[in-house]
Amino acid sequence: MNRVIYFDNNATTRVSPEVKEAMDLFLTELYGNPSSLHQFGGQVKRHLDEARARVARLLGCSPEEIIFTSCGTESDSTAIYSALNAYPGKKHIVTTTVEHPAIYNLCKYLEKQGYRVTYLNVDENGQLDLEELERAITPETAIVSIMWANNETGVVMPVEKAAEIVHEKGVLFHTDAVQAAGKIPINLQASRIDLLSISGHKLHAPKGVGVLYVRQGTRFVPFLRGGHQENGRRAGTENVQGIIGLGKASELALANLGKEQSYVSNLRDQLEKGLLARIPNIRINGAQAERLPNTLSVSFEFVEGESILLLLSDYGICASTGSACSSGSLEPSHVLQAMKIPFTFAHGTVRFSLSIFNTEEEVAYVLDILPGVIKRLRDISPFSTANSAH
Ligand SMILES: *Cc1c(COP(=O)(O)O)cnc(C)c1O
Repeated sequence: MNRVIYFDNNATTRVSPEVKEAMDLFLTELYGNPSSLHQFGGQVKRHLDEARARVARLLGCSPEEIIFTSCGTESDSTAIYSALNAYPGKKHIVTTTVEHPAIYNLCKYLEKQGYRVTYLNVDENGQLDLEELERAITPETAIVSIMWANNETGVVMPVEKAAEIVHEKGVLFHTDAVQAAGKIPINLQASRIDLLSISGHKLHAPKGVGVLYVRQGTRFVPFLRGGHQENGRRAGTENVQGIIGLGKASELALANLGKEQSYVSNLRDQLEKGLLARIPNIRINGAQAERLPNTLSVSFEFVEGESILLLLSDYGICASTGSACSSGSLEPSHVLQAMKIPFTFAHGTVRFSLSIFNTEEEVAYVLDILPGVIKRLRDISPFSTANSAH
């Protein structure tokens, strides 16, 4: 493949060169087991603790509150199961209709296991009603899980306010912050959030490493049992090089937060404005809500998102329909359905997700290519009258 224009950073990100460099030593020379009693292993333990401190700085918490896991999905599952096992009398979960499958499909499964789940609705901008949240909590509720930012639309949820409401009721609050971390500021110390998930490969660290934050004093039941790693909270020999990478990536993400808010959001806005100016009959999903600086979800009426992606792929442009996890099905994503995006638009949805590695030139290239792609597809669409308006 020749040139790759990578606008799919909500699916996964490139490992930063500095991250790779930091990791290399732990594959070749510092390969000891951090649990070993010899000094060779002991020095690895010290590097693990440094990585823990770096992640804690990104999240505004203390290092003891960080548990390293294998991915965002494991962190999400651990949080939910921990609450259910810590409060075995409570059989109710509150979440939303727009969660990532890591929470959504887990909750669907737990319903079959006899738990009751309340899925909070969102409005057409993907926003929650906090009064509905308050009403949903009962004495039976074990945990409330609300994502910080949506992976498909980038819509940011008011999780700090939600956490206060939930805390008032004496219920645990978890947030899936996989898309938020490194893109918007997070300060857990100043919040009432009890549990929070992040994933390395969404912030320029490698795949296969994640974090679960557990607030000090929170009742916690481990998901994996075995050795005493992670203070007895997550058994299994640590993914040392992945953790070192995530530590470095967290340090860089903290330093680059300003760049996300200015450089990346400026690129996203150029793309958004350019598309609106060049292509008729499109809509920007979540445009009226607070959004992540890097995410643009756009629906093109009367075309198939998958067809757009295939044609873009011929030009080396990588994007997503926003619902990688439901691809293969004819249904529009559960997120777009929850937002009541009209059917003729929802099917033609493409998610562009940018990063600090993208350039203005790449945005200009996409703006050059995409109008032609949409015109070609609309010309062969049996439903389309959109082009005649032009
Ligand atoms: C990617 C993603 C996950 C899953 O993370 P993995 O590390 O791939 O398991 C969970 N939640 C959200 C919002 C995500 O975007």
